[in-house]
Amino acid sequence: VFANVLRAPEDPILGVTIAYNKDPSPVKLNLGVGAYRTEEGKPLVLNVVRQAEKLLVNDRSRVKEYLPIVGLADFNKLSAKLILGADSPAILGNLVTTVQCLSGTGSLRVGAEFLARHYYQRTIYIPNPTWGNHGKIFTLAGLTVKTYRYYDPVTRGLNIQGLLEDLGSAPSGAIVLLHACAHNPTGVDPTLEQWEQIRRLIRSKSLLPFFDSAYQGFASGSLDEDARSVRMFVADGGECFIAQSYAKNMGLYGERVGALSIVCRTADVASRVESQLKLVIRPMYSNPPIHGASIVSTILKDRNLYQEWTLELKAMADRIITMRKQLFDALRARETPGDWSHIIKQIGMFTFTGLNTKQVTFMTREYHIYMTSDGRISMAGLSSRTIPHLADAIHAAVTT
Ligand code: PMP
Repeated sequence: VFANVLRAPEDPILGVTIAYNKDPSPVKLNLGVGAYRTEEGKPLVLNVVRQAEKLLVNDRSRVKEYLPIVGLADFNKLSAKLILGADSPAILGNLVTTVQCLSGTGSLRVGAEFLARHYYQRTIYIPNPTWGNHGKIFTLAGLTVKTYRYYDPVTRGLNIQGLLEDLGSAPSGAIVLLHACAHNPTGVDPTLEQWEQIRRLIRSKSLLPFFDSAYQGFASGSLDEDARSVRMFVADGGECFIAQSYAKNMGLYGERVGALSIVCRTADVASRVESQLKLVIRPMYSNPPIHGASIVSTILKDRNLYQEWTLELKAMADRIITMRKQLFDALRARETPGDWSHIIKQIGMFTFTGLNTKQVTFMTREYHIYMTSDGRISMAGLSSRTIPHLADAIHAAVTT
């Protein structure tokens, strides 16, 4: 009965790793996947995560019962505090409802499903370009996806004029997806002044901001700094959606731990919204997994573990920043044609190199370097040892 099922294409991002795994070359390099690696190229489990897991294992009072539909209560409270700030008036006024979801992706999807059921505007604007999954998540939830201009290939920076024009002509009430920090794939973020311009436009047109916060602390190394865009929007008292992921900043990729927060205008609305979120979640996966959320809440509520986490997070962010400098210096040393300053200007896990599909194909074929075809490279996948190889490849790609 399934004889007519067509073979689906590989996911464009995860497909890069599949191709990499098949390559027998000893010098191969995977810069496709957005996961942190150490200087030795190994995945990293944070020390605080190991400590939290030890505490959890040794606590005999812990059981494996189901969590409530909305997840672990402590985790939800602490997650809202982490993104909004402990002294946020929205938290103090009980204007926020937070539900534990399956990492960033699940949080976006639950938010999207809620909007499709309960919001009068069904159009969402996502940046061009954006993380490849965004369009699919919102389309499958039943929303109409449109794009707004974001990246300017000429300056390799933000097209603020185009962004303001496109959001300015969006229908009133439209939803706007914003990357809280470390925009993926471009690594280009608005400045604080530009965020303020965007905020004013969004509020004046009654657009609904939906923040995707997948890299808090990972961009600048400071959790507060990377939450500034979100806090600016919450401070004005308007509504706001936030999808949080702990994949990157706690290295909990496979634990699938994240949260959706919806900031409402009154505590009563927030509690009604929560009641409806339960109706979205229950038939989807019933309730979320317990382990990852327990790790996160153990770390967030313990002063020492929290402090140690911020240091480990800063070390990851700093290593990425060092990789940017080293790659930039290596290209300068080779006198590679072009202005490569965007490598040190862009932030977060990725550099949007500006290399075209043909150059990417060349680098994969000749140098066994794997990346998405849009020229995005994961800085976290680099080390001092592999940078010369990458710089040689880029140099050859732009000069041959
Ligand atoms: N949003 C963005 C912008 C991302 O880059 C990612 C991860 N690549 C996610 C959301 C979701 O990741 P996860 O579901 O693993 O938390």
